[in-house]
Amino acid sequence: MTDKRVAIVTGASRGIGRAIATRLASDGRHVVCVSRSQGPLDELANEIESAGGSASSQTCDISDFDAVAAMIEGVAKDHGRLDILVNNAGITRDNLILRMSDEEWDEVINTNLKSVFVACRAAARPMMRGKFGRICNIASTSGLVGNAGQSNYAAAKSGLTGFTKSVARELGKKNITANCVAPGFVETDMTKDLPAAVTEHIKGVISTRNLGQPSDIAAAVAYVTSDDAGYLTGQTIAVDGGMTMC
Ligand code: NAP
Repeated sequence: MTDKRVAIVTGASRGIGRAIATRLASDGRHVVCVSRSQGPLDELANEIESAGGSASSQTCDISDFDAVAAMIEGVAKDHGRLDILVNNAGITRDNLILRMSDEEWDEVINTNLKSVFVACRAAARPMMRGKFGRICNIASTSGLVGNAGQSNYAAAKSGLTGFTKSVARELGKKNITANCVAPGFVETDMTKDLPAAVTEHIKGVISTRNLGQPSDIAAAVAYVTSDDAGYLTGQTIAVDGGMTMC
């Protein structure tokens, strides 16, 4: 069994997940980097190890629920522990409600919400065995205040906040915390295709007047998943430059 706390970070191949994996590794965790893309995951794990950290990579499609449970059970078995689970992987399939297809709805709900339920259910047992757990689910300000064209995404992300509170209530007495971090607009592949006029409008309603960086989100996740955060549970922390303040 490794001495380091073992963390799984989904969606680690790029963007916010990559920053979270890098940050947790620099904080001394062994990080299991998960997504569907072997190449970028191997590259990330190598980069972390070259910097003196500890990481491994594992491919998993989080919309394949059996695969998610098997991946989590496998990590816990291989390392003899599972301390931290960051459910970060997520997708958008934006459309106005009148045009949204059943497929667009189901794909987003399955990938962004049901996969998190399956992952937390699988992680609860090894965390209980270890008498320690930190779950961090990456939500979104769209789930807090809504966003036109994102009814599927907002429903999934809003669902995460209620789900996480319930998990926090169930598992708190086992020294397992569960929180959400809700990013605002962060510069990643997910936001890179926004028209310039939309980006400028968004900047105008953000108190700090800039988009966030993946490292801004990673810093919040690092705290939420740290040993120091044992008295923080059931919360949703918006990291959005003061855009929502709710
Ligand atoms: P991104 O750049 O599009 O990256 C998404 C990550 O999720 C990739 O690593 C991708 O990996 C992984 N992923 C997607 N579908 C997957 C699947 N079925 N199985 C496994 N992995 C999958 O997105 P991001 O901007 O970093 O967003 C990360 C999280 O933050 C998401 O939950 C997103 O909803 C949330 N968020 C982002 C923003 C923002 O402004 N960027 C704002 C609010 C919330 P592969 O393609 O390699 O599988």
